[in-house]
Amino acid sequence: MAEILAAEERRQAGSLELIASENFVSPAVLEALGSVLTNKYSEGRPGARFYGGNQHIDTLERLCERRALELFGLLPAGEGEEPQWGVNVQPYSGSPANFAVYTALLRPHDRIMGLDLPDGGHLSHGYATPKRRVSATSIYFESMPYRVDPQTGLIDYDDLERLALVFRPRLLIAGASAYPRDWDYGRMRRIADSCGAYLMADMAHISGLVAAGEAKSPFEHCDVVTSTTHKSLRGPRSGIIFYRSHLKDAIDNAVFPALQGGPHNNNIGALAVALKEANSEAFRNYAKAVKANAKALASSLLDYGYTLSSNGTDNHIVLWDLRPLNLTGSKLEKLLERMHVTANRNTIPGDRNAVAPRGLRLGTPALTTRGLREDDFRWIATLLDEAVQLACEIQGERQGMKLVDFVAAMDQEPYASQLEGMRQRVLDKLSGFPMMHKQ
Ligand SMILES: *Cc1c(COP(=O)(O)O)cnc(C)c1O
Repeated sequence: MAEILAAEERRQAGSLELIASENFVSPAVLEALGSVLTNKYSEGRPGARFYGGNQHIDTLERLCERRALELFGLLPAGEGEEPQWGVNVQPYSGSPANFAVYTALLRPHDRIMGLDLPDGGHLSHGYATPKRRVSATSIYFESMPYRVDPQTGLIDYDDLERLALVFRPRLLIAGASAYPRDWDYGRMRRIADSCGAYLMADMAHISGLVAAGEAKSPFEHCDVVTSTTHKSLRGPRSGIIFYRSHLKDAIDNAVFPALQGGPHNNNIGALAVALKEANSEAFRNYAKAVKANAKALASSLLDYGYTLSSNGTDNHIVLWDLRPLNLTGSKLEKLLERMHVTANRNTIPGDRNAVAPRGLRLGTPALTTRGLREDDFRWIATLLDEAVQLACEIQGERQGMKLVDFVAAMDQEPYASQLEGMRQRVLDKLSGFPMMHKQ
């Protein structure tokens, strides 16, 4: 086990981490995650537990809740004022948080509309293929996706409105895992109202940007807002649900006892740490840099003549459309891995085959934490350009080349040496950026 841990630490330190959903937490967050808080059972709510010995866990969970509300500006303005929002910090992660919301607000087979997975949505918003109900959300509820305009890469709100009036969902979801632009929550509220639906935002990817005021806040227009806490928010792997006060009992009861047992108190402790870190000038500057870096990366790739979904970015994501290169995301992902650049193949709007997606998703939160700035991201664009050239060279005229054959070819000369040289340049670059950040 010690060897595995050391190897993973070396991998993280020695790779350019461009996976948009990942980040590096602070030593303080790690310390709380690995603490004795993990030993305690505390089923129930603060002050109303099913086990003894929870006096300190009660204080912890209340602290975490207060910090969450404070960070997103949801604490009542004045003494004695009724709170508009409440929060539940017990969900184990983003997907369970979403399922808790569905359990709270819907009856089995009620209808849900979320962004389609191939268009950038998340599995937990109800993904199904013509042959298979893939997500439990589509097993227990009826889901109909909305999509982005394949030409512009932007949410097609007109089409969404048309579909919503026919399908009449009980729940409409705003949120994505691979969408480089911001949301029109006001428009979605009006669409939800037109068919009597709840509006939920799943800000899993962008919650760090929202906290810092670098992305639009969904709270004005939504009934419920869910998030993961380990992406741009830079906390432990966990989930969180914000709800309008009148939904408190429904949401709390859905999390426990309907779906979960004892909360993971070490994660709640680590989340309390991360929420405090995020409520700082340093974090707000970090979030600004995340966006500036993504813009620098996007404009450099565009300068090289490449195609990006929606032609750029307003957040931390760059969605690279590889179709004009006749290259699959899988091949490029494998080649990048060989040179210690970590990114993931991703569908792009128009892709209907999730097995051979023709895009690559890039994100800036992790490397921004490590201290890389715009010039460094322009350097990364140069490296990515070389990587793509090499991938096209290896593939040659064989566009249908199987992935195993492509990988085997990477091990042959001259490609193996070229990749080794690129890997060395990545390591040299990263030696200037230590892993551990103070906050
Ligand atoms: C990552 C993500 C989730 C799920 O998070 P897990 O913690 O992996 O379950 C849910 N919704 C969106 C939009 C996401 O990007």
